[in-house]
This record gives sequence, structure tokens and C-alpha cells, in this order.
Amino acid sequence: MAVVQLARGRHRRVQEGHPWIFQGEVEEVRGEFAPGDIVTVVDFRGRFLGKGYINPASQILVRMLTDRDEPVDRDFFRRRLERAWAYRQRLLPDTGACRVVFGEADFLPGLIVDKFSDVLVVQTLALGIDRWLPDIVEILDNLLHPRGIYERNDVPVRRLEGLTERKGYLRGEFDPRLTIVENGLEIAVDVAEGQKTGYFLDQRENRRAVRPYAKGGRVLDCFCNVGGFALNAAAGGAREVIAVDSSEEALEAARLNAERNGLSDRVRFQAGNAFDVLRQMEANQERFDVIVLDPPAFAKNKAALEGAVRGYKEINLRAMRMLPEGGFLVTCSCSYHMTPDIFKAVVADAARDSHRRLRLVEERAQAVDHPIVVGYPESHYLKCLIYELI
Ligand code: SAH
Repeated sequence: MAVVQLARGRHRRVQEGHPWIFQGEVEEVRGEFAPGDIVTVVDFRGRFLGKGYINPASQILVRMLTDRDEPVDRDFFRRRLERAWAYRQRLLPDTGACRVVFGEADFLPGLIVDKFSDVLVVQTLALGIDRWLPDIVEILDNLLHPRGIYERNDVPVRRLEGLTERKGYLRGEFDPRLTIVENGLEIAVDVAEGQKTGYFLDQRENRRAVRPYAKGGRVLDCFCNVGGFALNAAAGGAREVIAVDSSEEALEAARLNAERNGLSDRVRFQAGNAFDVLRQMEANQERFDVIVLDPPAFAKNKAALEGAVRGYKEINLRAMRMLPEGGFLVTCSCSYHMTPDIFKAVVADAARDSHRRLRLVEERAQAVDHPIVVGYPESHYLKCLIYELI
């Protein structure tokens, strides 16, 4: 097994639980290896730090799997998957639709497994785990007995690992259009064509959290996708909900979801660019009691942060102008690079410019099946802040 020796002083972050070793942090690599192999990682003085998979094609040279000197074999992956599933079973009231494996945060770097009803959707986003995919599929099959397993590796990040994009059935053949139940609502999910793995499970608890705010009010849900926040607002007793998304496919699913939950009379879906829609609504002097903003990741990397800040500021500013005193702004960001501090500063900036004052009522993150690892800040990516306009 090849040995990766870190440069002087570069061991601390790894010791504190960060799972990535970048190219520039390495003193030398000794021994033969193939890309994707398991390697041993030692500090500058040669002390054992752990094992992980190596990929010289990636900026992230090694992704750590363990800090123990243990064999990394099929049994190792079985134990990791069992542990991840046990965590969900213990903490979620309902595992009908949940993230079973959240990559690095479940000590399985690059692996995503989502469960939608009795079907699993898998992504392998690093070469090291991609090589284990056949084993992972078998282990998941034995552990969860799904009706089928679908691969959603049609994601550009795989290219950073030298991997190609692909999708399709790994186990069984089934109708990829399924129904899940979330917060008591029936949601249609298309695991083959839906965005990401089919549905954004990370917002489950935040969607539920908007219900009391929405009660009796007029609600705007921007970037609604298949209607998650909008439907919860309506189920929470909103008088009227308008939901906006730029994707016609997402809105089509959203309309069906409203219908099957008997909420169509109170939820209206509108296609459009949320930036334009917000500007137009503001010009029309529309008023809402609650506005939800859940845009896609504007900052996919650090370089994109500046532009992202402008985007977040604009939508938050416009939303604040349409909220009365006592209204609530539910504002989200799913970019890791938009840290909680920066995000709060952007919201404060928007409040200043719109001459509004705010009270932070709830500071929320992603659902518990997307755990946050201390020492690995990248695992805290979703912010959901609820502000009251005062
Ligand atoms: N709130 C959703 C998830 C939002 S994901 C939920 O609870 O599940 C982001 C959504 O923004 C996607 O559905 C995407 O289609 C949409 N989107 C991206 N750019 C947009 C734009 N400029 N205007 C409106 N919608 C946009």
C-alpha cells in the first residue's frame, strides 16, 4: 500500500476530522498505486493518521475513510453503511424518504444514497468510491431490501474526479415516478428525471417549520421546485400561496402534488425567473405575510461568491419590500461558500438598503439525515433563516 506523507504542520486539520487532503499539502507519495486505491496517510514525522482513497486527477488528492489502522474491504463498507442506516432509523420518525448516506459526513466520502419510498438512488462522486459501487449496491440490497436501485451519476462534479456521467438502473426495473410521504403530504418524485436525486430531502424539517408562520396568511414561495414549501404553507393553513419556479417540469409536478393533497384551491404556481417575478410583484405593490426564498446554489465555488452575494442581496431586498411589519422572511442558501456569517451579513445589508429592521427568529440548517461534522465545515451547507420584519 502506498504511503502519503503530509508536509510539515499539515496534519492538524486531518486530525481534527477534516476528510480531505489537497495536492499542495503533501510532502511525498511513496510506493505504487493506481488511482482510486486505498493509501496510508502519515504526518511529516511518519506517524499514522489514517487511510483513504487517492486520486491524483483531483484537487482533493486523498479522501480519508478512517483514522484507524484497519483493513478497508467489503466488510468495512458494510459496517459503515449499517451505521449510517441505523442512525436514520434511530433519529427519523419516518424513514420513508430520507438520505441514507451523506458522503463524508457518514465517513463514506463521495457516496450519496437517498431513499424514496422503497427505491434507492445512488451517486458516487469520487473515483475511490466509484470503484466500490458493485459492492455498495449488493450491501444496500441486503441491508434495506429495496424494490430497486437507481444510479444518478449524471452530475458534472464527477468530471473533477476524471469520471464520466451516467445514469440508469443498478438493481431491478421500475417506474422511476414514485410517491413519497413527507410531513404528511404526498409528493410525486421522479428519480430518473427530477433535479439532483429526484427531490431535495434536506429541507424537510424547514418546510414543516414554515407552517405556523403561514397560518392564515398570504405566502410567496420562490424557487419552489415541486412545491415543498408551498404545500407545507398551505397545509399549515395559509389563505393563499403563490409559488414560482423557472422549470416547467418542476411546476407540472408541483401542480399534481397540490391536487393530490387537496390544496389546489389555495396554491397557484407561476413559471418564471424569480428575479423578474420579484421585481414585477414589487412594482405591482404586492404584499405577502410570508416569503420563502430557496434559490439554487449561486456560489458553486469561492470565485463565484461575489456574484452570488449580489444575487442573494437582490432577492432578499425585494422580498423585504413586500413584507409588512410582522411579516416573515424565510431565506435559504445551499452554498457552502456562503457561510452563515456572510449570509447573515447579506441579509442585514438588504435590510439596511430597504430601511427595514429584522428579528432573527430561527436559525436552521439541513435535516438530521444530512449531519454536520465538527472539523469539516463543508458539511454545513444549508442555511435556513427565519426573520420577522419589525
Ligand atoms: N424549494 C425547493 C427547492 C429549490 S431548488 C424545495 O423545497 O424542494 C432550486 C429551484 O430553483 C429549482 O427548482 C430550479 O428549477 C429553480 N430555479 C433556478 N433558477 C431559477 C430562477 N432564476 N428563477 C426561478 N427558479 C429558478
